[in-house]
Amino acid sequence: MTRKPLSGAELNELVADLHKLSRNLWWSWDQEAQDFFQELSPRGWQNLYHNAVAVLREVSENELRVHLQESDFERRARAVLRDFQAYLNCQKTWGRVNAPQLLQNPVAYFSAEFGLHESLPISAGGLGILAGDHAKSASDLGLGFVGVSLFYREGYFQQTIDSNNWQTEFYDLVHPENVPLEPVLDASGQPLECSVEVDMNRVLFRAWRVNVGRVPVYLLDANHPANPEHLRDMTARVYGGDNTMRAMQEILLGIGGVRLLRKLGVQPSVFHMNEGHAAFLTLELIREKMAAGKSFAEAVAQTKMECHFTTHTPVEAGHDRFSPDLMNYALQLYRQAFPAPFADLLGLGRVNPEDPREPFCMTVLALKLSRTANGVSDLHGAVSRRMWKPLFPDTPVEKVPIGHITNGVHLLGWMKGPVRKFWREKLSEEANGGMPDETAFWRTQAGADWASAINHADFWKNMTDPDFVSDEELWALRYKLRREMIEFIRRRLLLQSQRLGPGDFIRYDHLLNPDALTIGFARRFATYKRAPLIFQQFDNIVKLCKDRERPIQFIFAGKAHPRDDEGKRFIQRIIHLSKHSELAGHLVFVENYDVHVARQMVSGCDVWLNNPRRPLEASGTSGMKAGCHGCLNLSIRDGWWREGYDGENGFAIGGDSHPDNVAEQDRVDSANLYQTLTEQVIPLFFDRDTNGIPRKWIQRIRHAMVTLVPKFTTDRMVKEYTRKYYLAKPG
Ligand SMILES: *Cc1c(COP(=O)(O)O)cnc(C)c1O
Repeated sequence: MTRKPLSGAELNELVADLHKLSRNLWWSWDQEAQDFFQELSPRGWQNLYHNAVAVLREVSENELRVHLQESDFERRARAVLRDFQAYLNCQKTWGRVNAPQLLQNPVAYFSAEFGLHESLPISAGGLGILAGDHAKSASDLGLGFVGVSLFYREGYFQQTIDSNNWQTEFYDLVHPENVPLEPVLDASGQPLECSVEVDMNRVLFRAWRVNVGRVPVYLLDANHPANPEHLRDMTARVYGGDNTMRAMQEILLGIGGVRLLRKLGVQPSVFHMNEGHAAFLTLELIREKMAAGKSFAEAVAQTKMECHFTTHTPVEAGHDRFSPDLMNYALQLYRQAFPAPFADLLGLGRVNPEDPREPFCMTVLALKLSRTANGVSDLHGAVSRRMWKPLFPDTPVEKVPIGHITNGVHLLGWMKGPVRKFWREKLSEEANGGMPDETAFWRTQAGADWASAINHADFWKNMTDPDFVSDEELWALRYKLRREMIEFIRRRLLLQSQRLGPGDFIRYDHLLNPDALTIGFARRFATYKRAPLIFQQFDNIVKLCKDRERPIQFIFAGKAHPRDDEGKRFIQRIIHLSKHSELAGHLVFVENYDVHVARQMVSGCDVWLNNPRRPLEASGTSGMKAGCHGCLNLSIRDGWWREGYDGENGFAIGGDSHPDNVAEQDRVDSANLYQTLTEQVIPLFFDRDTNGIPRKWIQRIRHAMVTLVPKFTTDRMVKEYTRKYYLAKPG
């Protein structure tokens, strides 16, 4: 049957809608949308790093229009666009019911980094990933929410490893027209301009909007032609430069961020500072109030009623501190318009406001100027209360006003494509199985709204039911994911070696064993995370890897901070072992850890290893991405795992305490790690029935899915923030 061709006007509209869709990161957690863009240009999708905007630029307008004349392709385009519109227009959201006042006066969430997608590398690690996941869940929940951050045009560094196995950093320019960003315009259609005083200059800045489903994230950009060069470079790199640069960036983020929101007519009901970086926003709120006639004391008190603060750093040295001289320099113009004495301003960032030598601490400022504050896990809450006790001299330590909300992850965003499809099919099988509608709300929603079902504990409770999903299916899924990751890694390592030239040749297609117990470790190479800990038992580990009956293997990835030579030596050592020791072939290091590599690894590995020095892992989130893929955690009881582990849903290294002495701690933890691995993990994984299925291992996977997956999500986390902090009545 032939069909009537689309008219020019119909095509124009479809093409315009697709472009609009490409500039909303909603597609990054919608599988059909991703499949659609991938089909347009499969190689482009891969080479352009899964970026819908870039794919649409790569495919000519002509090709797209011709393609849309195919009825099946057109139907799919329309289906995706319909789902997208339904998502944007949905009126029955959690936020509308539970926090309607935030729709008028939203939460303004300030964060120095946002990890939203691999094509927009403006995040250095977990802090940014958390902010990105927070925004995605705020969107899913229909919460009144705007994000504020900086547009780093060179982003965070890209990592390559040189022939000495040493990390080298390079920076790629991010072209706004090529990534899911839109310029923020004023009423006349010109880029909106704001300014902020930094040292002795008035810095002009513009902003970009990232559409994250229903919510905007605004990225401030100082790269304005009218600014002097060194100020244009303020927003070149994530945490680029020295402490002065850091202070300048934070002035732009905090003070500039408030000004941008005012210009956009956004009147937040609460300012959420994600880490101390954003705390200068409080100065601007104080300034505004004093300009309107309030006294300093009144302005401080009122500002405090508008702010919430989340701390992430359990180490003293990790908090931003600026010397009085630096503050004086960085704020020299701003302070002229600041209606209170500079000494009063400096006092806000000091534990002892009277001490003129005490550096200005952003965390102190944030704590003094917020109505509520929290750490990011139960243990981290306690550590933070102890750390900041001096700020509250009359309060017993357990009453120090820092609570906790444990972090989570945006489940759909982290799920690998085949896993989304797997669970979605399960859901619709169930829905078509004639179950009565009332049994669980999600059974009726196997269509477009399955996204909310997947966060629901009821869905994951099904994992105890072998009729819902059988051991055989789960094991087949595990094999598929392990195989996909191994092939991804083989390809990556081949490319890595080609760059280093001949002489560094390994037989890549035979690297790694798809039947082996595969242990993954990927995170920032901060030294407290102790990446090489397992190799303290080197000879024993070699034996385990070479065991023909029960082989294990290791995959590592991670970036060290550009100035952290010790972290870089960790990387060097691991890569050296992977090439030149008996572990060659059983251990690999994948370059340039980012969210794409993370997604491959948390899905493909059987075990997710985490061995930080307790209690320095405030929460940790990478292990939370593992559960929905059937990957089990093997971790120190620090951060979230201390709360998540129940004895049956993964593996713990050591107990719920740690020695004070660091060397002793390393020794004990390494011994415990080896013990858990050999006494629990390996035997369970290789305990197979006659069909080769590890029933008890799968039992653990099921139990992990029930007990961990729906709990450690940003869906749960953002609801908690809303109830506990965003809606808390000031005063
Ligand atoms: C999840 C994630 C992190 C955070 O992982 P931790 O376990 O908290 O260290 C860091 N970087 C990337 C790219 C991630 O995806």
